Amino acid sequence: MAKQLFVPTYRIDECLQEIRQCLEIGWTGLGYKTVEFEKAWKEYTGFQHCHFVNSATAGLHLAVKVLKERFGWEDGDEVISTPLTFVSTNHAILYENLSVVFADVDEYLCLDPQDVERRITPRTRAVMFVGMAGSSGAYREILALCRKHGLALIVDAAHMAGTRLEGKAVGLEADATVFSFQAVKNLPTADSGMVCFARAQDDELARKLSWLGINKDTYSRSNSKEAYKWHYDVEHVGYKYHGNSIMAAIGLVQLRYLDADNAYRRQICQWYEEAFAGNDLIGMVPLPRGCESSRHIFPILVDDRDSMILALNQSEVFPGVHYRDNTHYSMYRSGSGTCPRAREKSERLFSLPLHLRLTRSDVQYIAEKVTSYVNSKVPA
Ligand SMILES: *Cc1c(COP(=O)(O)O)cnc(C)c1O
Repeated sequence: MAKQLFVPTYRIDECLQEIRQCLEIGWTGLGYKTVEFEKAWKEYTGFQHCHFVNSATAGLHLAVKVLKERFGWEDGDEVISTPLTFVSTNHAILYENLSVVFADVDEYLCLDPQDVERRITPRTRAVMFVGMAGSSGAYREILALCRKHGLALIVDAAHMAGTRLEGKAVGLEADATVFSFQAVKNLPTADSGMVCFARAQDDELARKLSWLGINKDTYSRSNSKEAYKWHYDVEHVGYKYHGNSIMAAIGLVQLRYLDADNAYRRQICQWYEEAFAGNDLIGMVPLPRGCESSRHIFPILVDDRDSMILALNQSEVFPGVHYRDNTHYSMYRSGSGTCPRAREKSERLFSLPLHLRLTRSDVQYIAEKVTSYVNSKVPA
């Protein structure tokens, strides 16, 4: 178990206590704990508007949809994004009939600002920035570029729960920033996410859209003193994207531990880095200056990655690959060949086990297996 890629840790008694409150009062849905969790997340991050949803995928879709509506983008308009991500990121763009234009990645495995600038055309409307592995990458440069060219900025912060850049959450200046609280992310619930819009009207629209387009939610209605509180209007063909109180209850507990958990993740990564220091056969991914990463994953780059993973599996170590270059997939094949660095890195990178149950000796064991494998491949 220890040497699995990801193992979530839940504070079980506290979670059950928080969930119990929902069950006792008989409110498990939208409202109640979701309201509390949104408030707690605002305080923790400094975002003005936080809307709790049932996944980051739903949050990303809402971000793209709401901004498309706000700015009047048309079908076929372009959003610049990274090929090195989970497909949710790019699906969110396609859900809204926009085109994904891939730009290449930099040494942080995040979008490279120079390459992004080269991909801007008269139809470019937005940039989708992913904080890979919890890194802020060149977020500041990307933000400056978006401002210079009048583009919207969406941050896929699925890996970035707890990441800070110069002491602040990443994405505060973006049009929308989306976090994931899926089971293997840094703040695990089971499935949920948070979409944080810069503008109050966008948050308001997203809330309607995530509750079927209905203009009043059941929780506010049931707490209202209006005589006609059962009256509501349906203003949009919305979705069922909102989060529920059971997930929010778990989130409230897990949030109390997020900083301590991330500190231990950073410790694990430091142990790995110390073990690999000076070995040219193991490529490390640097962190930008000022970034206190959530360290969602720990990627390294090696030649002969696929056999390395098989060899590690023989030693009961189970790494993962984050990510295959999305242009490998049929749905995104049109971007094939446009991002050579992402392609090259995606063939060499893999993620070592990283979770709170790893001990120092687990990390040493894993690091030794990696080192002895790469060293054994050096021609004598
Ligand atoms: C996990 C992840 C998502 C999707 O999150 P869900 O909450 O599972 O929908 C999106 N983008 C990235 C980069 C992710 O790692």
